[in-house]
Amino acid sequence: MGYDIHRLEEGRKLFLGGAEIPFSRGLAGHSDGDCLIHAIIDALLGAMGEMDIGQMFPDTDPQYKGIHSTALLERTMTELRKKGMCVQHVDSVIIAEHPKLAPHIPTMKEVLCPLLGIEREDLGIKAKTNEGLGAIGRGEAIAALVQVLVAVDIRS
Ligand code: MG
Repeated sequence: MGYDIHRLEEGRKLFLGGAEIPFSRGLAGHSDGDCLIHAIIDALLGAMGEMDIGQMFPDTDPQYKGIHSTALLERTMTELRKKGMCVQHVDSVIIAEHPKLAPHIPTMKEVLCPLLGIEREDLGIKAKTNEGLGAIGRGEAIAALVQVLVAVDIRS
């Protein structure tokens, strides 16, 4: 299980699920701030008994500054495969008041499925608003919730 939230900030590009989404603001962070990928990484690390994304890729480490989160996911998948495991299913929810994310979900799947080694029907990405409530509802942040199912890879 993974969860992440990042603030929206002027002057940054918005990346979610590895897709660049046209918007007036982007997610703040040491990396590209992609909270969906960060939540996926945390879910994977949890499933393999590791700590969390902050331990694995410290935001004090200059090598991760401005890094695309897809690269962090790639490294996480390498660790998972080293342990003889594979991903079976991923389900997720992105909570964002703006922009409208549904049109970008196919692109997110195009980026994420090859990285995760799964088919499109095994990756769920749902987008919803926070009904105007709280910080997310005021458009100050975007959050993501993720569940992954991993298995022992019988091919390895
Ligand atoms: Mg994060």
